[in-house]
Amino acid sequence: MSAVTLPLIVLVEDDQRLAELIRTYLENNGFRVSVEHRGDRVLERVQREKPDLMVLDLGLPGRDGFAVCREVRTAHDLPILILTARDNDIDQVLGLELGADDYVVKPVEPRVLVARINALLRRRRMAYGPEHKILRFGALTIDPAARAVKLDGRLIALTSNEFDLLYALATKAGEVQSRETLYLQLYKREYDGLDRTLDVRISHLRKKLGDTQAARIRTVWGHGYLFVPDAWT
Ligand code: CA
Repeated sequence: MSAVTLPLIVLVEDDQRLAELIRTYLENNGFRVSVEHRGDRVLERVQREKPDLMVLDLGLPGRDGFAVCREVRTAHDLPILILTARDNDIDQVLGLELGADDYVVKPVEPRVLVARINALLRRRRMAYGPEHKILRFGALTIDPAARAVKLDGRLIALTSNEFDLLYALATKAGEVQSRETLYLQLYKREYDGLDRTLDVRISHLRKKLGDTQAARIRTVWGHGYLFVPDAWT
């Protein structure tokens, strides 16, 4: 398991003094920062570094911020926060054509910038984070937000424990999960080598999933359980 990685922000700002000021502030607030001064190098940098968010000035050498924003938007699903010196750019900045996610007016108030960045990242995690991502395996869909499991569009009635177990297995589809790991994760206790709780729930789950889907949950003797993704069926 890797350690938690700090979010990476690409900061596109040609005013080097301002860029360093913002960089320092962001780094002191738990972000990694990659500074780019030229508009025509942004796309390449985004492709290479895969940042979590971009802070983008509008007036830039090489390519202006408007063009950069459009260019990055068409290729990457990346939150973009615009720095603008002029209030009257805001309609255009937030409009459909440019589609930036938010803006901060210069002179930049660092605390405001950090608050906006955090809000965008939080929104992004809620929309795309693992806790809300609907999993699909052929006819089977698992929706963690609604805690609903459907087979061919029909709801399957699972207990809360069964849902948690299925979701724990399905989020790690293709990976064997040990009983020890599942006990700690689901039941917050160590597996004592005898307890049948997990096996009983697996068996219920297989019955409820029905003939076509039950085989997705495989027992791997001596190791644990494996959820089989579509590619394997
Ligand atoms: Ca500028």
